[in-house]
Amino acid sequence: MAITPIGILGGTFDPIHFGHLRLAEEMLELAELKLIRFIPAGTPPNRDMPKASAKHRSAMVRLAIAEQPAFVMDEREVDRTTPCYTVDTLRELRMELGTVQPLCLLMGGDAFLQLHTWHEWEQLFELAHIVVGSRPGFTLEERIQSANGKLRNQFMQRLCTVQALSQQACGGIVELAIPKLEISATLIRNRVAEGRSIRYLLPKVVAEYIQQHHLYLTC
Ligand code: ATP
Repeated sequence: MAITPIGILGGTFDPIHFGHLRLAEEMLELAELKLIRFIPAGTPPNRDMPKASAKHRSAMVRLAIAEQPAFVMDEREVDRTTPCYTVDTLRELRMELGTVQPLCLLMGGDAFLQLHTWHEWEQLFELAHIVVGSRPGFTLEERIQSANGKLRNQFMQRLCTVQALSQQACGGIVELAIPKLEISATLIRNRVAEGRSIRYLLPKVVAEYIQQHHLYLTC
């Protein structure tokens, strides 16, 4: 029996920008998802502390996704003060949504190539599918050759079609060709700190929020 999958897009979203939103919109369409839950990270274990507080980052995500009914806010990580791992968040979602609902963890190609550094990363496949957005012409099949050996094996074994995502609750990897916009949160923060324009890099409501709350004035 086919069940329409739910997408999960985690990130620091410091701040959310059109790179994230286009990735989500393309994946919604191409992976045939019911909806996408946006989950801003509270205290990310794998990287430097975000510049803006979890409350601010979450508020910006909420503003950015307001116009797309298929994008849903999920603030479960925001209030946590301990490091939150994606594997724990997925375990929580499984408890809530049951064992049958297909879940798709969404990410860019660069993030996928670092997956083996994530806490209990091999457990992720027991909880969700992974859907990776790659730049057209830069397939993971080529880039995975120089990646971590265990990650390469998982990729080779689990690569499947979009249709397979609705047939099983978890365990597949799908690669989708999605043009990557040359936008990053780092670029936006640097531009704000330099007093430069961020117009057309992110939704206007988010740019206004940054200004009102005096975010990112220092690098
Ligand atoms: P920073 O510049 O602070 O490192 P970021 O802009 O890369 O941040 P994250 O919150 O780290 O944003 O990214 C969340 C997810 O969105 C990751 O899976 C990442 O691969 C993806 N992503 C980020 N920017 C883009 C983009 N321009 N196009 C497609 N995917 C993106």
